[in-house]
Amino acid sequence: MSGGYCNRIAVVDLGTHSVRYETLEPEFIQRYIGGRGFIVRWLMDMVPSNVEALDPKNVLIFATGPLTATIAPTASRMAVGAVAPETGIYSTGSVGGSLGAKLKRAGLDAVILKGRSQEPVYLLITNDGIQIKSAKHLWGKDIYQTEEKIRRENRDMRLSVAAIGPAGETRAYISTIMFDRVRSAGRGGLGAVMGSKNLKAVAVYGKGSVPIHDPQDFWRCSQDMQKKAVKQFFIKRWRSGTYGALTRYNEAGALTTRNAQQTAFEYIDQISAEHYNEHFKIGMRACVGCSMPCWSIYTVRSGDHADLYSDSVNASTFKELGARCGIHEMDAILQAHDDLNRYGLDTISTPAVISFAMECYQRGLLSSTDLDLSWGNASAVITLIKQIAFNEGLGSQLARGVRYCAQEWGEDTLPYALHVKGMETVATDPRGQPSWGLGYATSSRGACHMRAYGNFEYGGMDEDAMLRISGTTAIAERFGVEGKGRAVAFLEDMHSFGDSLGTCKFMTRAELGFPEVLAPLLNAAAGIQISADELYTVGERISNLERIANLQRGITPKDDTLPERYLVEASHEGLAAGKVCDLQPMLEEYYQSRCWNCEDGYPTEQKLTEIGIDRLGKDR
Ligand code: SF4
Repeated sequence: MSGGYCNRIAVVDLGTHSVRYETLEPEFIQRYIGGRGFIVRWLMDMVPSNVEALDPKNVLIFATGPLTATIAPTASRMAVGAVAPETGIYSTGSVGGSLGAKLKRAGLDAVILKGRSQEPVYLLITNDGIQIKSAKHLWGKDIYQTEEKIRRENRDMRLSVAAIGPAGETRAYISTIMFDRVRSAGRGGLGAVMGSKNLKAVAVYGKGSVPIHDPQDFWRCSQDMQKKAVKQFFIKRWRSGTYGALTRYNEAGALTTRNAQQTAFEYIDQISAEHYNEHFKIGMRACVGCSMPCWSIYTVRSGDHADLYSDSVNASTFKELGARCGIHEMDAILQAHDDLNRYGLDTISTPAVISFAMECYQRGLLSSTDLDLSWGNASAVITLIKQIAFNEGLGSQLARGVRYCAQEWGEDTLPYALHVKGMETVATDPRGQPSWGLGYATSSRGACHMRAYGNFEYGGMDEDAMLRISGTTAIAERFGVEGKGRAVAFLEDMHSFGDSLGTCKFMTRAELGFPEVLAPLLNAAAGIQISADELYTVGERISNLERIANLQRGITPKDDTLPERYLVEASHEGLAAGKVCDLQPMLEEYYQSRCWNCEDGYPTEQKLTEIGIDRLGKDR
């Protein structure tokens, strides 16, 4: 490749403290592009399907894409992946911040982390190579302290740090890896995978540049995208990041409230973007090289949490910690949000498992705690977050997620454990946003909203784009089912190659993510000739490979479903009043569109031939 890639990956064996470097074969690049594509291929090749997440034989991979660290809009992203403890299947996440870009500038496309170190260590990666350094003095430190100490002891404030907090050290199944303090990746417990390797952090600074095959053409394609993106998204994001959507979810009856017993929150005004912007927000921030700042900095000026200053508020902050747990005091929500980041906990799964405990408490099904878990008790939520991170009290059970807790606490609690394939659902309620329900059911890593991330049910897509992804504009009808199976399958594939390129879904979730737009950008960067159809096929290959990996790890078509609550208990609020999520027809269309067999869940032979893999997931 004459651009886009460093053509060098590092394989770090933490067991022997050795590092070796490998190059990338052109054919491998054409088939898997980068990021998430590389990760699924390597996991299939390196980790047998009987290896469990916390076994040293699991591998944890950081992989950039060919656009990472270039001037392409929002191209800050890197993918992170491994077998996840909460689900037992692969989890890959996309993360911004600056670490991916610095890794590329240090001359590496990816780092593969194998084995388990005897003692806690961290990696220092620069243009001079990789050092494995002792992290004994960092064990027990939170995310912020860890980053600060690593930067200071290496006398380099430019270091970007990916770290685990106490939650990853105690191997909480709902721990994540935190990048640059407040960006996170690794739902399903990749923080625990890193902790199981005794790897506290990866610190990176690189100062090289990423070669571009045709700089002029690349600049033209990037500018073209940038102009379109400014019109579509930028202004909205500048004002209210992703949390601006909260009021809309509430009106639709799509805001999961009190563990989805309601779908709208009576205190919406107190957790709204307007309230936050007026009283707490002090500015917006962006990942490196992104001109669409979408996360915000805040401060709390008075009350119990006065002087809190932190950042990275997003929609999950108020959906999950607010409505889902019944909390309306914004200062307490912000404190809890900061604690999640500080301890390295998942900002979706942690509030989800706490709200599950709250509902069990409400129903008299939970007696093993002295805490008052009444809805809206913010101080109990803050206490539980700490207990989860440090594996104490009730927290030591909650740290394993809702599926585990429901299995332990008894059959009566099962209906309130809202998860798919072991991963907690997001607080956008599928009764008010049905295509997200389908996306939770089919996502390859459990109930993830970012695999499909459709926005056509609330006016985020024009007619041409809707026709392109589903063949019909009927998908805009919020409670209709026609076309949504096709749309979700298309979007999943589109994001499979998007997550491999290194761009951000906040820009590429509609037409700017189409292969017709991204293939010329990739070609100009890397000097390859991939058509839009071929790029789409790469996305399909990645999605199907993840599918086969899941089937090999025990997932069956029966797991492509939603918690019963969403399917049988009608919503009472908003546009969704009287509705359940009508999953089955969407799911049938999805299977048809994917050419997946309803009986065993595998892609048909014809589909496998089209995408060039076999039933075992090997390349043909
Ligand atoms: S849109 Fe937001 S999350 Fe995406 S790269 Fe830009 S700042 Fe980061």
